[in-house]
Amino acid sequence: MNRLIRKVVILGGGTAGWMTAALLSKVLGEQAAIELVESDDIGIIGVGEATIPPIQLVNSVLGIDEADFLRETKATIKLAIRFENWGGIGESYYHTFGTAGRNTPFASFHHFWNRARKAGLGGSYWDYDLNYLAAEAGKFAPTHGNDPIWDMPYAYHFDSALYGQYLRRYSEKRGVVRTEGVVGAVVRAAGVGDILALVMQDGRQVEGDLFVDCSGSRGVLIQQQLGTGYDDWSHWLPCDRAMAVPSERFAQTLPFTRAIAHSAGWQWRIPLQHRNGNGLVYSSRHYSDDEAASLLLGNLDSSPLGEPKIIPFRTGRARRQWNRNVVAVGLSSGFLEPLESTSIYLIQSAITRLVHLFPHQGITAELVNEYNRQSQIEMELVRDFIILHYHVNARRGSPFWRAMRQMELPERLASKIALFQANGSLVQDQYDIFMEPSWVQVLMGQGIVPVDHHPLADGPSEAELAAQLAQLAAVKARPLDQLPSHDDYLQRMTARAP
Ligand code: FAD
Repeated sequence: MNRLIRKVVILGGGTAGWMTAALLSKVLGEQAAIELVESDDIGIIGVGEATIPPIQLVNSVLGIDEADFLRETKATIKLAIRFENWGGIGESYYHTFGTAGRNTPFASFHHFWNRARKAGLGGSYWDYDLNYLAAEAGKFAPTHGNDPIWDMPYAYHFDSALYGQYLRRYSEKRGVVRTEGVVGAVVRAAGVGDILALVMQDGRQVEGDLFVDCSGSRGVLIQQQLGTGYDDWSHWLPCDRAMAVPSERFAQTLPFTRAIAHSAGWQWRIPLQHRNGNGLVYSSRHYSDDEAASLLLGNLDSSPLGEPKIIPFRTGRARRQWNRNVVAVGLSSGFLEPLESTSIYLIQSAITRLVHLFPHQGITAELVNEYNRQSQIEMELVRDFIILHYHVNARRGSPFWRAMRQMELPERLASKIALFQANGSLVQDQYDIFMEPSWVQVLMGQGIVPVDHHPLADGPSEAELAAQLAQLAAVKARPLDQLPSHDDYLQRMTARAP
């Protein structure tokens, strides 16, 4: 421990590896040399196509031009996820990136909406959400109104292989050295101490001071070398396999992800410019791979563009994401299934945390402990949000969903649900990626509508409340007429100047 960090070595060239290389090379500049080691033979996982809005911050820090990004990664816009068959079969709701209505300082919009609902007034909660309205209409353009009521936060769907290559070009231009080959061993200080060098199968050695393990679910450094240990969360999230297959694109490109629940798992459909990404996340105790394949292929609605690829996984996290002089980023640090598209965000967050706590003067126990503390809370909060989708379901006739309804919840989640159910209150945890509007949408979308509302929502008379809601709905919808279709927007953005 405690030596100056002059060289950072990144093991792995998937999304995690190249995002780390791009961001560290941009932010650290000349302060540390960066070398990335990856194996063409091993390759990358090749899924991970849906993101959440903070990805915009990555692009902005890197100084990436949005049109160039959309063109090079074949990206589309994501305004929301549409959850189908989660509450009950035939039902659907959106988890949008927007905020419904207009919040007041002490009571959020959903309290007013809930009071109106009980009085038989107003529309659906989502009628007051511009992201929802635009997603349903298949429209998009950035809305930069003077009033935050017209904010329409968005993220992207992109081709993960193209994204990696894009960031590779970016990183190499900024001096990141790429070394190709398989790492077969490491050199450690005095036998079992810090890692000093990666040893390639052909004998080359790559020395470094700080190692970022982006080697995917193998966890070559954090697990295979350091034996960090893994917290297994599969008793809460029992899906343990995914099957992915691309298919032909549709004539119209939807600006949202679809997440369609099946009897023992769920299917994603992600629209890209050149194809759809599809996959089934399932429990191998309930579906054989053959059953999964026929379910997936039978629900594509366009021709598959290859053979389905099976990806086994184990939900959980590395017990310490920073151990000795190794920081695990990406799948090596743990995995939560892609239901809320959080893994790429967790990569972003891990790198941001590393930059904040960068050990310029050497690695100390305080830095490592703080890094691990924040990482653990953040991942547990995402885990809880994903469990919520499984637990609060009204599906009948499926042993899988029944077990999900009956499971014992993590304590924090159980009390969050109970509090919301009673009076609509939600407590915002500091490291929770998901803010109140996200929790409200998923809770209510899956059937938990609070019994009571905040007393401030009793302020207006019923007539005033009805008038306010009608006005809000009209104001929210105002930008819609001006918005182009999502396809027109993409075409305009990706057309090259003549
Ligand atoms: P990988 O892509 O596996 O890269 C590992 C790298 O390490 C490769 O370059 C490999 O060659 C290298 N490597 C490994 N061992 C060695 C060795 N010994 N020597 C040299 N090199 C080595 N995330 C989202 O945010 N949104 C999504 O929609 C989403 N969907 C997903 C769907 C599924 C089914 C799964 C499983 C994951 C999904 N994810 C999603 C997660 C996302 O795919 C990953 O977080 C992301 O791709 C990062 O992967 P990675 O870089 O950690 O690992």
